[in-house]
Amino acid sequence: MTAAVRTTCPYCGVGCGVVASSDGAGGWAISGDKEHPANAGRLCSKGSALGETLGLDGRLLHPVVDGRQASWDEALATVADRFSDVIAEHGAQAVAFYVSGQLLTEDYYVANKLMKGFIGSANIDTNSRLCMASSVAGHRRAFGGDVVPGNYEDLELADLVVLVGSNLAWCHPVLYQRLIRAKSERGTRIVVIDPRRTATCDAADLHLAIRPGSDVLLFNGLLAHLGRAGAMDQDFIATCTNGFAEAFLSAGDDACDMDAVALGCGLTLGEIQEFYNLFTGNSKTVTVYSQGVNQSSRGTDKVNAIVNCHLATGRIGKSGMGPFSVTGQPNAMGGREVGGLANQLAAHMGFTPDDIDRVGRFWQAPRMAQREGLKAVDLFQAIEAGKIKALWVMATNPAVSLPDADRVNRALASCPFVVVSDCVGDTDTTAYADVLLPAAGWGEKDGTVTNSERRISRQRGFLPNPGEAKPDWWIISQVAARMGWSDAFAYQSPADIFAEHAALSAFENDGSRAFDIGALTGVDYDTLPPTQWPARKSSGGTARLFAEGGFPTPDARARFVTVQAATPAMSASAEYPFILNTGRIRDQWHTMTRTGLVPRLSSHIAEPFVALNPADAATLNLTDDDLAVLRSAQGDATLRIRVTRDQPQGQLFAPMHWNRHFSGNGGINALTAPVTDAISGQPELKHTPASLTPFKPA
Ligand code: SF4
Repeated sequence: MTAAVRTTCPYCGVGCGVVASSDGAGGWAISGDKEHPANAGRLCSKGSALGETLGLDGRLLHPVVDGRQASWDEALATVADRFSDVIAEHGAQAVAFYVSGQLLTEDYYVANKLMKGFIGSANIDTNSRLCMASSVAGHRRAFGGDVVPGNYEDLELADLVVLVGSNLAWCHPVLYQRLIRAKSERGTRIVVIDPRRTATCDAADLHLAIRPGSDVLLFNGLLAHLGRAGAMDQDFIATCTNGFAEAFLSAGDDACDMDAVALGCGLTLGEIQEFYNLFTGNSKTVTVYSQGVNQSSRGTDKVNAIVNCHLATGRIGKSGMGPFSVTGQPNAMGGREVGGLANQLAAHMGFTPDDIDRVGRFWQAPRMAQREGLKAVDLFQAIEAGKIKALWVMATNPAVSLPDADRVNRALASCPFVVVSDCVGDTDTTAYADVLLPAAGWGEKDGTVTNSERRISRQRGFLPNPGEAKPDWWIISQVAARMGWSDAFAYQSPADIFAEHAALSAFENDGSRAFDIGALTGVDYDTLPPTQWPARKSSGGTARLFAEGGFPTPDARARFVTVQAATPAMSASAEYPFILNTGRIRDQWHTMTRTGLVPRLSSHIAEPFVALNPADAATLNLTDDDLAVLRSAQGDATLRIRVTRDQPQGQLFAPMHWNRHFSGNGGINALTAPVTDAISGQPELKHTPASLTPFKPA
């Protein structure tokens, strides 16, 4: 009998520890790892069903070139030759990688090194752009680095937890379970700020169904109120921050009194007063934010409006206090550590001349990228415009998941050369591939992931690679070797790559540089107990940061950011009178390439739908289970109607998961607009003007 293997769930950013053990009948039993700090043995419905996703149905088992099975040698040579030809003819900016928070940190590191250090372009972006780019940008503005100050335990130690744009109950279920247990034991107060009444509201002492997009006004109003109430931490502001006076004055201009805030947020004065009094009266406060904040044309400003309130009260980095971004994907954080975004370099560095020089010397890179690359939405628009002529998609399905998906499909169809490496062989995106490369999947590959609280854990393989599947890091390294860089990519294992990644985190590091925040020299890859970075030698990891300042800015001070309330980029109109919000449901993951394989996960919600308020349904003469056509300026979808009082009037909600394989529709992102936050590049997936009409059969 095979010994139990400790690994990590591949779904959400909670990053639960998982134990895989033989069930004695040729299958695998999956259970929660009781010793993992993130979940202490708990698993949600998706994690519990992991054992049912391990079959070979739908797996890509062999390389494919131009529609026929090929050898690895031919496939790798084809990719290397075509990329080299495009670079020679059109330059490095004519190629791109689009990668994924599903990749392990080591895969991410090698892909970034190849594109940014050897090809010489930063046109590598990730589907994490869709999930937490606004939090990254907000943290960099406020803290000087992409750092989450606190940890999960803080939600259990807080007296007040404020959940902004976060349906924690469905999207981060194990963290929600921890919060609910704390509430029952300690009486934690919970405020949910969300236009919809979600499952998370069941635990809320107060639900603020704010007008979509009014978060900045709400938190500017809170900042002004904290001043009026004398609830600021003047010592922390004076010794650990800059920019307070300007931000505070501007917030006061925006939110001159609570009546104005209530009016602007679509709430009652009593609701505003109750929230502000709760925040003022509970120093142990954690504010959790997720996609409802991030997926917005003002996402970065929303993050900074929240962070400003924590800086003003000194509630950061201390037990039970802090702003806390929860990431959507299992390795969104790990990808950020190695520069997985087009606007970052590895080891928390950016595109300053010093950083470019330092990373270039460490890699001994022949062609370091000199400027930021194209962010996801811009990248696919550049493909459509013919500027990018070779694209490699790794472990993701942009034909379904990016906004304005029909246009993304046209871009993929027009791209002269498309490579897709994935563990599944039949997604909406693989249909466009000239070359398909079979990648090892969860349970087969080895490496590390980092969860939302900066905790690095191992993913470990317990299954053989099926067919000819190979780990992503191996595939990328083999292509790099065939492009002429065999020495720089001569890795023999993920441990080799992690060791290089950790060495870069300490390269020319005198302890004062911003990137020291991501130190990994204290991490032992082989034994790796789940460890929170920064992990310097002998430190054993870091639970919390910044309680006494020490931010990774040049003067070690955090920055208040002056942010002003503004409406979303697009408003409802006579033609599109509703606002469409998209998001997850409890039991599905992303575009369902894995969770869609498990029948019992579809018993919760079996088909795509659009939810609307009873008053709107009555106006449209629609009743539950009717079919209706949902339409935006980008596209349309025919969906089942769900009538619910959880949905405010004028607002619609539709899940993001279904695609052509499961519904016959192109997926909800055929309707969402390619509008992005100007700072973070994150799309506004939660605010698309739309119309809804009863379906009439032809
Ligand atoms: Fe996996 Fe997230 Fe569920 Fe934990 S909460 S088992 S990481 S999907």
